[in-house]
Amino acid sequence: MTIEYPYPVAISVHTAAIGMEYPMICFNYGRPDKKGNYSAMTKWSMISVIIHEVGHNFFPMIINSDERQWSWMDEGLNTFLETKTSMEWYPEMPIQLGTPATIKNFMSGEKDFMRPIMTNSENILFFGNNAYSKPSAALFLLRETIMGPELFDYSFKEYARRWAFKHPKPADFFRTMEDASAIDLDWFWRGWFYTTDHVDINLQGVSWYVLSEPVSKFQSKYKSTYVDGTKLTDFQSVPQPWYVFKDKKGLIDDYLHPVNQDAVMEKFIGKNAYELFFQNDGGLISPIIIKWIYEDGTSEIEQIPAEIWRINELNVSKVFIKEKVVSQIILDPLDQTADVNFQNNYFPKTKVPSKFDRFKTKVNK
Ligand SMILES: [Zn+2]
Repeated sequence: MTIEYPYPVAISVHTAAIGMEYPMICFNYGRPDKKGNYSAMTKWSMISVIIHEVGHNFFPMIINSDERQWSWMDEGLNTFLETKTSMEWYPEMPIQLGTPATIKNFMSGEKDFMRPIMTNSENILFFGNNAYSKPSAALFLLRETIMGPELFDYSFKEYARRWAFKHPKPADFFRTMEDASAIDLDWFWRGWFYTTDHVDINLQGVSWYVLSEPVSKFQSKYKSTYVDGTKLTDFQSVPQPWYVFKDKKGLIDDYLHPVNQDAVMEKFIGKNAYELFFQNDGGLISPIIIKWIYEDGTSEIEQIPAEIWRINELNVSKVFIKEKVVSQIILDPLDQTADVNFQNNYFPKTKVPSKFDRFKTKVNK
């Protein structure tokens, strides 16, 4: 994920009660008791702390950011690599932090007691969450869901390569991730690093249409809309599916200058058009991941990029054309975007058991 390790050794010293990093040497806790026994907890925390502290050889020892100013630049990046390493090398290890799913509790908390990640280290409240877990969760989200592994890994490596043996500042990290991947991530850094907002996408409503009218009649309803002297098509006044469909030809611009409206419209007749209305309750911009469950029991997952919020970051709607009839819609079905509230992720509305409900069920058993 970074650069070749340039030194002859990396020493891990087995200690009784501390984890601490230095260049080429670190001290890691986790010991059996006097009889040689140890718990699973001791074992996993020792493995985690070794991965973590050895990892610090790269951040900040080689990619030498200033941890007194920006703890997230070494602890956050290192926790991200630690979590990823743990998942790959020890799939049976219980993952306690560093992923979007594990940061939700913190992010849904009281904002008066929070600071943005981009806070000087001495002013941070909840050091562990701010400097370690939240930036790591943000990077997971960026890699797995927003950029994709290929572009993320290339850019992350490029950051390590460019800034090895130098002193990067936050902007150097943000800039490298953007210019190495050619993805504009301003919205992402702003939301995750400069605010205390959280992700909570609310699926407010769903409208279902089946297009059955004759094409000519339908068109006449929507005639004559003009913008900037351009005659917009009939499709302009109805929501997105029309140009999403036309997009298949690779011509977005086509929707301003339709060439073959009738043929396009005819293809929609008899199909199900679902218009989904989303509200951004948490403030943080997020991709929208939708699981469609159909009447026949089959399902599919579709991802709408975060850019859908580009013009309106509070409310958006989008129309989807489906051959089959939909019986249920679930947002973020794999729990990958750190959406803190699943009560509003279902259509039809479904009560999701809260942590307290689950506790009560367990106690009552
Ligand atoms: Zn650390």
